[in-house]
Amino acid sequence: MPRLFSGIEIPAEIAERLIVLRGGLEGARWVDPQNYHITLRFIGDVDGSTAERFSEALADIAAPPFSLTLDGLGSFGRGRPRAVWAGVASCNELSALNRAHENAAIRAGIEAESRNFHPHVTLARMRGAKADDVATYLSYNGAFLSAAFPVTRFVLFSSRESRGGGPYVVERAYPLDGGED
Ligand code: ATP
Ligand code: MG
Repeated sequence: MPRLFSGIEIPAEIAERLIVLRGGLEGARWVDPQNYHITLRFIGDVDGSTAERFSEALADIAAPPFSLTLDGLGSFGRGRPRAVWAGVASCNELSALNRAHENAAIRAGIEAESRNFHPHVTLARMRGAKADDVATYLSYNGAFLSAAFPVTRFVLFSSRESRGGGPYVVERAYPLDGGED
């Protein structure tokens, strides 16, 4: 069964800025820069016909291109940090695109997502890293701000079956050229 999620790719010039943030945190496994992405809708392991329905529902999305900025670093998992990420500056078009992906998932018969959308680029995953070390890392690096970059397509990614993780494969790409006139 394929393991799927939809998302946005990170352009090379932005990835180059993120590469500088790798290192300096004990217990962190730094994400390979070729795997940087923003998840729009995590699907997980699904059967082929669900995958096909989701892929087709994504193709019906009409949305315009827009631009994004990465603004600030943060972490998930307070006492036991699990990930360090770069956040995405608030963007109405991105929120609308996430809602469209949620609708596509529902039309494909996938269970609704109950968690809030928190767009981010995961930079490192960790097990056993100290919360204090993460706080120190963030105090040095947390003010990160990228240049704005254009988002001209979203993609359907697959990750490793049942286990997750990269390298992620672009199964299908969807250009952004629709939306309001
Ligand atoms: P690993 O789990 O091995 O660290 P991964 O998390 O990158 O790898 P997947 O588990 O396939 O690989 O996840 C793909 C993407 O979806 C990642 O961006 C991940 O953060 C995100 N994701 C995974 N599970 C969920 C979930 N339950 N809700 C929202 N996003 C998720
Ligand atoms: Mg995972």
